[in-house]
Amino acid sequence: MGWMSKVKVVNLVKRFDKTVAVNGVNLDVGDGEFVVLLGPSGCGKTTTLRCIAGLETPDEGEIYIDDNLVNDLPPKDRDIAMVFQNYALYPHMKVYDNLAFPLRMRKYPKQEIDRKVREVAKLLNISHLLDRKPRQLSGGEQQRVALGRALVRTPKVFLMDEPLSNLDAKLRVYMRAELKKLQKDLKITTIYVTHDQAEAMAMADKVAVMNKGKVLQYDAPTVIYEKPADMFVGGFVGSPPMNFIKASVSEKDGQITLVSELFSYQLDPELSKIVREGLTGGEVYLGVRPEDLVLSREKTPQSVFQAEIYVLEPMGSNIIVDLKAGEYLLKAVVPPTADLRFGERVWVGFMAGRYHIFDAKTEKALV
Ligand code: ATP
Repeated sequence: MGWMSKVKVVNLVKRFDKTVAVNGVNLDVGDGEFVVLLGPSGCGKTTTLRCIAGLETPDEGEIYIDDNLVNDLPPKDRDIAMVFQNYALYPHMKVYDNLAFPLRMRKYPKQEIDRKVREVAKLLNISHLLDRKPRQLSGGEQQRVALGRALVRTPKVFLMDEPLSNLDAKLRVYMRAELKKLQKDLKITTIYVTHDQAEAMAMADKVAVMNKGKVLQYDAPTVIYEKPADMFVGGFVGSPPMNFIKASVSEKDGQITLVSELFSYQLDPELSKIVREGLTGGEVYLGVRPEDLVLSREKTPQSVFQAEIYVLEPMGSNIIVDLKAGEYLLKAVVPPTADLRFGERVWVGFMAGRYHIFDAKTEKALV
């Protein structure tokens, strides 16, 4: 479509008085990629996006769009379109005029405005709404008009800050697929901010997981999920979240055993080697996702410790099982057909090769 573009952020730092909102962010966004900035409230996602848009001035670092340094370019010259959380449409204007507004501002000829408005309306399936006012639209329709207003100028880069957050849960899930489809069709380089890990996983080509002004991991969603770089990423992505069990490391004849309140668990020679080489202290966290805990009534070769079924949460497509073991409350996910009862004791094991080991001091992944 000829409106592809790339974005590069190098060592971006932004402070507000004593708050370091963004603390050395690097980001490489390829042509036509959909990148999601994911992280908890206050981690610096919005500030990063606003720096890219030119709405904030970085204290340090560089921002490139298509290899051009844009630090000193005002927002209007960056060829970027931004959609915010509250995608305020002009309430007194019809949808048509809302869409036409950015083009009128830039003094496009009337015929071209009409052509572009109708083209974008068709693309977003809002052609039948052009004569309505925003208050006569549903949330999803308003959302599409807001997207249309951002798209009508065919920007180089699309920046979106929680654009679906005002929608109800069902519409959100519908719109996120629509938005992804649209982005894939148009191939517009997009940077999208959300604190919703499911949204990030569902939409992104690559996810940048942020915390405290830093990017902790920048990878494809499956890599983020399967190989989290540290405990924060492991715990933030996935629902219910990853279980963590603290253990000390004891070594005998070259083989490592993890000793926790719940179990002693021997690692095979290969894993022993990796853990030994990466370890900074004597303690680790074993991280296991709920779907990778294996429950059984009888003891099996896989069984590692016993737990009591504390709560059962039937979700329809699966059951979330809350397990009480020592001081821990762990979560497992089992098929809806599993025959389990409140209060009963079960054996818990780990799916082979599906657990993570994090250094307790650095919180970085060893395995
Ligand atoms: P949220 O999901 O809540 O929007 P976020 O990850 O987008 O969070 P930012 O809005 O980038 O986070 O904020 C990062 C930090 O910078 C926060 O501590 C915030 O309070 C602070 N901050 C952001 N904007 C300003 C400002 N204009 N003045 C002072 N502090 C600010």
